[in-house]
This record gives sequence, C-alpha cells and structure tokens, in this order.
Amino acid sequence: MEKHLVDHDIEIVGENEKLYRCSCCKHFTLNTVGEYSICRLCYWEDDGTLPDEVDRFSHPNGSTLNDYKNDFEKR
Ligand SMILES: [Zn+2]
Repeated sequence: MEKHLVDHDIEIVGENEKLYRCSCCKHFTLNTVGEYSICRLCYWEDDGTLPDEVDRFSHPNGSTLNDYKNDFEKR
C-alpha cells in the first residue's frame, strides 16, 4: 500500500561522485560540464556558459546567464 514511491526522483549524491559547479547558482550540482545537464537547484541548462559569460545569450535557457540568475534569486 505505501510502497510504490520508488526510484529516480531524488538522487542521493555519493561522496565519490565528481560534481561540477553550476554557472548560475554556484552549487555543485552537475555531473558533467557543457553537456546540457540541468541543474537540480536552479534548472539552468548547462550549455557550457561560463560564470563570467553572464551576458552571452543561452539558447537552451532562452535567456542570458545574468537574467536567468536574477530570476532565480527572486524566486
Ligand atoms: Zn544552478
């Protein structure tokens, strides 16, 4: 009865897992870099935009990193 809440919603991150810093929220949430992983915190799609490329328009995200970050911080 209470048993069908299974797998893949939340992934527990093991200590050995190598994570990369999200360019947007600065948390270590990405398993890959520049390979379109979605940050699990701010949902920025990592298209390889670097933290100092804040004004580069990112097509997958439909926004610049700067605008995206401002929106995220407001939420
Ligand atoms: Zn993020």
